[in-house]
Amino acid sequence: MTSLSGITPSGRLTLGNYLGALSRFTDPDGFFFVANLHAMTTKHDPRRLATLTRECATLMLAAGIPPGAVFVQSDVPTHAQLAYLLECTSYVGELSRMIQYKEKGGRPMTRASLFTYPCLMAADILLYGAQRVPVGGDQDQHVELARDVAVRFNREYGDTFVVPELHKAALATRIKDLANPTAKMNKSDADDAVGTIRLLDPPDVIRRQIMRAVTDSDNEVRHDEAAKPGVTNLLEILAACTGGDPAQLALGYSSYGDLKRDVADAVLAVIEPLQKEYARLATDPGAIDGLLAQGRDRALAASEPRLQAAMRAMGLAGCA
Ligand code: ATP
Ligand code: MG
Repeated sequence: MTSLSGITPSGRLTLGNYLGALSRFTDPDGFFFVANLHAMTTKHDPRRLATLTRECATLMLAAGIPPGAVFVQSDVPTHAQLAYLLECTSYVGELSRMIQYKEKGGRPMTRASLFTYPCLMAADILLYGAQRVPVGGDQDQHVELARDVAVRFNREYGDTFVVPELHKAALATRIKDLANPTAKMNKSDADDAVGTIRLLDPPDVIRRQIMRAVTDSDNEVRHDEAAKPGVTNLLEILAACTGGDPAQLALGYSSYGDLKRDVADAVLAVIEPLQKEYARLATDPGAIDGLLAQGRDRALAASEPRLQAAMRAMGLAGCA
């Protein structure tokens, strides 16, 4: 069963990205990529994009993802090629219903790619025949669209694509912002946002952010998303970092201070080894280039046959 997932280099990676995505990319036969083409749907700075792409790829390798599985999306041209074919099988109606477009798009100066990127994401998934797409819960709508596009393509042009399953995360599907615990923690939030834990920030900064996390005033440690979003988020982070159950863990605490200290320890126990490995890898840029070239070649070889099959099915192959 092939699994596939990507991370957009739209900011510096967060604890949410690690718990919801990176830490779950364990399949040695999987494909895990830096989705840099997806980072251009709104105005972007080319230099920052290049820097963030490299940082994200290095973090993927540092997180222990099998090296041959890691690649940069723009290094593998089949993604953009299939995306166009899928744009030709998708409808304006379904793309207008995508949350990102509804939230950020619809204006004269909206980039056209903000409207069409779900087709690129469907291409990312369908090129590899991926059945499992291990992503956080915020991505469900995209995987649903990929499923719809695959079913429609197979019906109209003949059986070509594997229809992916929705594989929902059991835990840490939505780590919340520490300063605003009803909102998701996002890497594209401002670099200095106090509620966002960045994987490469100094440990003392991370500890301070956790100690200052917004809670509430009744000082009762309980897992209750609606009534106590801040405390619940801390319990979920603790559970995700230690492998426990958030409601059970709550029973062991009678003060917010103790809970926060343990959350900080648990988060740093996960992040510090990751930072050490990142620093080790970063000393040898040539070796990183080599690993990414290996990932690129493997991804190209794996995706090319399905692109060709889709082209043939649509009446394109052999026209050159
Ligand atoms: P952006 O602000 O650019 O949307 P993001 O932090 O949401 O950034 P994505 O690139 O959209 O990151 O998603 C990368 C992966 O990380 C996806 O699998 C997504 O589900 C997961 N992810 C993102 N944020 C969180 C979060 N707060 N909790 C758990 N998983 C998350
Ligand atoms: Mg996101």
